[in-house]
Amino acid sequence: MQFRDLQKQYEVLKADIDRAITAVLFSAHFISGAQVAELEAKLAEYVGVKHCITCGNGTDALTIALMAWGIGEGDAVFVPDFTFFASGECPAGVGATPIFVDVDERTYNIDPVKLEKTIINVQNEEKYRPRAVITVDLFGLPANYDSIPPICEKFGLLLLEDGAQGFGGSLHGKRACSFGDISTTSFFPAKPLGCYGDGGAIFTDNDEWAALIRSICVHGKSGEDKYDNIRLGMNSRLDTLQAAILLPKFEAFKKHELDAVNQVAEWYNEQLADTELILPEIAEGFVSSWAQYTVQLPENVDHAKLQDKLKTEDIPTMIYYRKPMHRQGAFAGTDSANADCPVTERLCRTVLSLPMHPYMTREMVGEVVAAFKQHFS
Ligand SMILES: *Cc1c(COP(=O)(O)O)cnc(C)c1O
Repeated sequence: MQFRDLQKQYEVLKADIDRAITAVLFSAHFISGAQVAELEAKLAEYVGVKHCITCGNGTDALTIALMAWGIGEGDAVFVPDFTFFASGECPAGVGATPIFVDVDERTYNIDPVKLEKTIINVQNEEKYRPRAVITVDLFGLPANYDSIPPICEKFGLLLLEDGAQGFGGSLHGKRACSFGDISTTSFFPAKPLGCYGDGGAIFTDNDEWAALIRSICVHGKSGEDKYDNIRLGMNSRLDTLQAAILLPKFEAFKKHELDAVNQVAEWYNEQLADTELILPEIAEGFVSSWAQYTVQLPENVDHAKLQDKLKTEDIPTMIYYRKPMHRQGAFAGTDSANADCPVTERLCRTVLSLPMHPYMTREMVGEVVAAFKQHFS
């Protein structure tokens, strides 16, 4: 069994994807071809924001957003302690100090109460200037956007939504990647909407920031002239090939894949209901795009042993994530290493992600659950 079956997806979408790739090869417009602009327009419309600017990957997307805001040395950026490394790496990379905040034990997303407390602490210490909050829509579930935007407003902070795992999710009908002052996503192959290599996108309603972001993506160009460079930028674009591949994949995502992963999650929920596991909970008003289906094991279960047993039955599982951000070696000896995050510490010992993708059948879910129950008891 595959953890995320990209081969099966290709089999289903092969005719459209092959045609899209061939068209790019014949056009030879490998950079900034028409498919890139077409994809940007479609993504912006779907998400419900004015501007979508595609770029090289989800990590660049975060860095470019921070660069557009001029965030750097002396600035504090608040980041959940339970996330993929890039969420904290990018603010540190532009010279700011990521301050890690604990997460909610049921949603896995940043805890608004602890966020506010942490902001006040940093404010009182007066060592760093609080500038921005990075929310992560972890495992496909939007962060708590009922509570977080008012906190940002109260303290005058910018909100950067890291929607790398969240694309397709929503809250009260408003789609992920529309909640931040700037929002970002990733098209890494295993993300909810993935391409066949690296890719990313940046979303905003703000015209000025959008222009700035387009400039930063292409060596700090002025307007349309790539050889008139008015600021330092980078080279971060989505290849035409990747845009062409994403167009039919995006249609499938909208038409059936997003519904399919929600169906798979429902089957898991039903079939695992009578176990000791803590199952993912999606609160009223939220829709997840199920980048991962992650359960919590009791503390006394030996993770590695369980994973090995499942592996012998051809059931792949993953641990997202093993280490709290503030304990990553890259932050050792910095102020980012000082964080009080007991929930994240516990989750890193108890979480397990099960196979999840839109081409899983009820029978496959049954196989995972049967193997799980057998080795778990
Ligand atoms: C994958 C991921 C990123 C980075 O995206 P890449 O396209 O791999 O650079 C950033 N944040 C989160 C939460 C992610 O899961």
